[in-house]
Amino acid sequence: MAGVGLSSRLEGGDHVQSVESEKVQGVLSRLVTLEPRDLCNEAIVEKCRATRDLRSCGRIVEHSLNSCNHASLCAECVQRCDVCPICRAPIRSFGTPVRTRLYEDCCRAGMIRSRPGGATDADGHPNADVRRLWSFFDIALEYGLVSVIHHYVSDVCMDDMAVSSNATVSLLLDGTVVKDWCRRTLSHIIWNLHEIYGLGSAQMRYKEAQMGRFSALLLGLSEVLESLEGPYVNESSAPIIELQQLIEATRRVSQHLDVMSWCARHNFLEDLQSSHSSISEWRLAVKNRKLAATDRAWHGNIQGVRTDTDVRTSTLFIEDAMSNAGFGEDDENAFIWETLELQHLRQTTTLSSWRREGVGVMSNLHASGMLYPPESVRAAVDLIFLEASSDLILAKKAIFLYYLFDRHWPGTNNDWKSILDDYVVTFGISRHAMLESFVFFLLDEADDSALEEACCLLPEVVSSTIHPKVPRVLLERKRPFAALDVLRCSDGIGDVRFSGSAKNDEVSQLEDAVTAVRVRLECGLLTDAYLYQRAYISRIKSIEPKQSVLKSTGMNQHGSRDWSYEMESLVEEICWLCAEKCLVAQMIELPWDKDEERVLLNCLMNLATKDPCSSTGSLMVMFYIMRCRNQEAYLVHKELLAIEKTFLEQCKDMERNEIIKNICVQRSLLVVVRVCI
Ligand SMILES: [Zn+2]
Ligand SMILES: [Zn+2]
Repeated sequence: MAGVGLSSRLEGGDHVQSVESEKVQGVLSRLVTLEPRDLCNEAIVEKCRATRDLRSCGRIVEHSLNSCNHASLCAECVQRCDVCPICRAPIRSFGTPVRTRLYEDCCRAGMIRSRPGGATDADGHPNADVRRLWSFFDIALEYGLVSVIHHYVSDVCMDDMAVSSNATVSLLLDGTVVKDWCRRTLSHIIWNLHEIYGLGSAQMRYKEAQMGRFSALLLGLSEVLESLEGPYVNESSAPIIELQQLIEATRRVSQHLDVMSWCARHNFLEDLQSSHSSISEWRLAVKNRKLAATDRAWHGNIQGVRTDTDVRTSTLFIEDAMSNAGFGEDDENAFIWETLELQHLRQTTTLSSWRREGVGVMSNLHASGMLYPPESVRAAVDLIFLEASSDLILAKKAIFLYYLFDRHWPGTNNDWKSILDDYVVTFGISRHAMLESFVFFLLDEADDSALEEACCLLPEVVSSTIHPKVPRVLLERKRPFAALDVLRCSDGIGDVRFSGSAKNDEVSQLEDAVTAVRVRLECGLLTDAYLYQRAYISRIKSIEPKQSVLKSTGMNQHGSRDWSYEMESLVEEICWLCAEKCLVAQMIELPWDKDEERVLLNCLMNLATKDPCSSTGSLMVMFYIMRCRNQEAYLVHKELLAIEKTFLEQCKDMERNEIIKNICVQRSLLVVVRVCI
């Protein structure tokens, strides 16, 4: 990029100090005080309009006249002319006749190295005026005077009154000129970073100062882009979309650069022994974690939760986090890879190259383990910070942290802990967020000592916003009391959350509620489970009218939430678990309401039909007797007798038949004594 200040700055840092002189200061103060519209005028190349030898002189004008501000005469012609050829004002009416134009000043201060020569420059932009304006922007960006560009955007580009009949002027007044500058500047920064990143980890650390400077340039650039987007933020015309993609690309390059700088400072953790001997061993470990998670997943007795319980595979926290952040989905900004050359920042081929080569659907990458773990620290940085939307930077930082924990836990010494602390401090991650990442990793890790450590850390992590999967995993890993602590501390987890932001919100709420019920029953807290179910359903009933706006997901035709389905799921869950834990006798004593009772008895009848050897049938009769509903008790008794009769006819197992006969006799006695008398 010959001809602009930025390039000289990009190439040599030493240069910066040597030209930091009075001249530079003069230019900068001129730049700041200039009216935006005058900046445009200063950018325009003017040719001398004096007449020489019967034709126009035509030399480039380096000065403007003090009398009328016109840049109309070259240095030579100004000596012999008395009036301005444009406005006829007398030139020498007061003091010095001329002053240097801004562009000349910049060249003389060494802020612009060479002047634009021929018809086009290296950027292929045909217009010298545009290039001069860009030079001013370069200088403003370089010296932290982004406000100059801001003003240009807001006072000139956004101003409908700022128009000109002159084609060159109106070109300069258009916002496209600023956008194109942003795009070119981003491209230059990417190429410079590409060279630095290409040096390898050992050399990169000596480039820290330069990387820091690019980081500042990128921040300034995003500010300019945001001011361009400002009034059009909700529009979706092609130029605005292009602008938004430019913003997205700038942010990603910037976020990626920040982490690259951090990594360079720590030599890409090459001095730190990973706890995995090789990447293939690590991949296998992740695969095994996934298998373990699927194995231990709680397969409900009920048809239950509206997900596909039969083929339910468990996911790891890292998988959830990555797919929530949009990894493994087609990047809607694929454009920025092609046009804005983001791929030059990457060391190895990752997602986008697969995407281009058409390697299947992205979500399959999870299954094939291609997404996590990345093969090296550098690959991790590239993957996490270049792929997926820049809006999710917090999630991305947490994912990288998870990766670091995974890479080093438990470790033989504590070196890695201080590096992790440095990461946390550098990127302003809260202690809570850090521990959360750590706990997620520990809960994913199949090892029991990891589970122990997670349980120790939990009290520090629990909050009302904790991941609802935490208690579920604890339950599955046979830590119901730890799960109960989380549920209680998190104050209302599995409760009806009103956020409405998550996908399948209603389904996940019900899943959380089922987990809450299971945890309580696993801890032997039957009454608690019962009360929880009650409270959950009554809250859903109470939000019914208000929630009709959320018709889109999971609502029935009437626009209200189908609470009876959720109630059924929860009561059935209680019923089945009580049967499993021989708590049916206690369960029927609870004060069930009419709706619950219907579900409960239905469920008990199913159990009794499946296994007449159990006491379930008799307990059903007890249920009615306790409530003095003898008529119903008698009817159930008769129904059970019929079931037992068919069972006895078919079953050849003498022992079982004896048991059934016994149950039958006892229940008949009960009915005779309590009902018929
Ligand atoms: Zn001239
Ligand atoms: Zn004039």
